[in-house]
Amino acid sequence: MSIFCIGRNYVEHAHELGNEVPTSAIIFMKPDAALLPKGENFSIPSFTNDLHFEGELVLRVSKKGKNLAAQHPYGIPVIEYCDAISVGIDFTARDLQNKLKEKGLPWEKAKAFDNAAILGEWHPLTAEILAGPIHYTLSKNGTTVQTGDSSLMIFPLDKILAGITEYFTIYPGDLIYTGTPAGVGPTAKGDVFEGFFEGQSVFSLKVNS
Ligand code: ZN
Repeated sequence: MSIFCIGRNYVEHAHELGNEVPTSAIIFMKPDAALLPKGENFSIPSFTNDLHFEGELVLRVSKKGKNLAAQHPYGIPVIEYCDAISVGIDFTARDLQNKLKEKGLPWEKAKAFDNAAILGEWHPLTAEILAGPIHYTLSKNGTTVQTGDSSLMIFPLDKILAGITEYFTIYPGDLIYTGTPAGVGPTAKGDVFEGFFEGQSVFSLKVNS
């Protein structure tokens, strides 16, 4: 299974971290071991003092695909290649990521470490959902910290599939984290996160104290 992630897919989030708004989708990946097993608590890794949460919409791939933009010149039918959607967290060791970026080094240590990907319960993907806008939120200790709206994505879901499959073949079971809206922030021991897809809770995550 591949876990594809999109960076800086919302203008306000790019600005809050002082980054430029990208002109093509920023793609990075996490290995299988980055996915926190269902029901397990999460621990802050010892190598970071600034672990950020990034709440994101997540797609599940259901069909093999490559070079989808070329195959679908009139628009990629997302529903043909993805069958489920949920909300997750792309945990990021921001202090480490900043150091790596300064040196022009890859991000993996900061974003692809064990348990850095949180995934909620799936909702079947329907044409109605895809017609959008899709709404989701992330709460921390009972307070909403991030509000997502798919209509504000710089690269919407079909463009994300185009961007990924220009370089990588997607396979059934692959996951796509679609980028975080503004409002990312630090994680502390004992925090409780909850993800909501269209107002419905899809995960609750306790950070070990
Ligand atoms: Zn992210």
